[in-house]
Amino acid sequence: NKSVIFLASPTEYPVPGEHFAVETRELNAELKENDVLVRNLYLSLDPYMRGRMRDSHVKSYVPSYPIGQPVSGGGVSEVTESKNPAFPIGSIVTGMVGWEEYTLVSGGQGLRVIPNARDSKIPLSAYIGVLGMPGMTAYSSLKIIGQPKAGETIFISAAAGAVGQLVGQMAKKLGLRVIGSVGSDDKLDFLLKELKFDAAFNYKKGSILDNLKAAAPQGIDIYYENVGGEQLEAALDVLNIHGRIVACGMISQYNTPNPYGVKNLMNIVGKRITMRGFIVSDFAEQCGADFAKDVGTWLVKGEIVYKEDIAVGLDNAPDAFVGMLQGKNFGKQVVKVADL
Ligand code: NDP
Repeated sequence: NKSVIFLASPTEYPVPGEHFAVETRELNAELKENDVLVRNLYLSLDPYMRGRMRDSHVKSYVPSYPIGQPVSGGGVSEVTESKNPAFPIGSIVTGMVGWEEYTLVSGGQGLRVIPNARDSKIPLSAYIGVLGMPGMTAYSSLKIIGQPKAGETIFISAAAGAVGQLVGQMAKKLGLRVIGSVGSDDKLDFLLKELKFDAAFNYKKGSILDNLKAAAPQGIDIYYENVGGEQLEAALDVLNIHGRIVACGMISQYNTPNPYGVKNLMNIVGKRITMRGFIVSDFAEQCGADFAKDVGTWLVKGEIVYKEDIAVGLDNAPDAFVGMLQGKNFGKQVVKVADL
């Protein structure tokens, strides 16, 4: 069973070979009552997994990865053996699996069958992207925390990524003026030409604050925060009175031992800004059904675009993960492990 094993906690960017190793291990395929064995087809590579690579004594909302065990995360898989009537052999499921060819899912915990998956017009990888956790993140938090209203202006950082691209397209549908920042000119073109953003800039070129001010002459009403650091600081300066910050993530702070000190938090007081963090699972009950219906419909009707970046083979998973943290991904980063 080829697997990507977690070796050690990094302090900066993880390094394949030092923090991950690809190994072939014996497969434990002895199923107990309700267990399910799955063959993994696609793996989702997500920024929060960097947080799971921390030292095990540091507490957080998700457990850290045990050293010497396969990395785990969301995936799309085929059931190959089953002692659980809810997951018959041959069904296609999503859930938490290892970065490995086969995963034994104890009690079938957390798995969900994708109905009619074999005949679906939607690619299976979408169930860990726009129709999965990142899509749900964008959909629920924009609505609940962002409180978007037609005519308002939203600024989205990491706007070409898995979460950002859906936030931007939803905001356009709702009649907002949409501004995005990205780290390359290819991504900038994508925002302007394919996603029809109203304005965008490459945060690696020129002053972030000047670029944001030029893109938002009337200020911004919502900042959809994926990045933190200097972009948060610029957004605080440009936010209007009663502005909202949807604090989704701060990826610029994940791979450095020296956090950026945002100097202008006082803006929150004077401008009556609301800044609220969340974890996507908070909104499952409130938004889960609407999310699946709305985003599923938009996709099938071609009303939204969805870009993903597919690395092929488990051997390439460590590089793809580090690449995603560094912005080399163009769209939602997945790894294709096997064909259906
Ligand atoms: P993306 O697909 O956006 O990939 C990560 C992107 O982050 C890179 O492509 C890169 O884009 C950008 N990035 C990396 N380093 C920096 C940096 N130093 N400064 C600015 N940008 C950087 O990932 P996701 O869409 O999956 O995640 C986006 C954010 O959402 C993350 O912060 C993540 O932690 C958060 N998140 C939070 C959830 C929650 O429940 N709260 C759930 C899911 C995601 P570029 O080339 O443009 O720099």
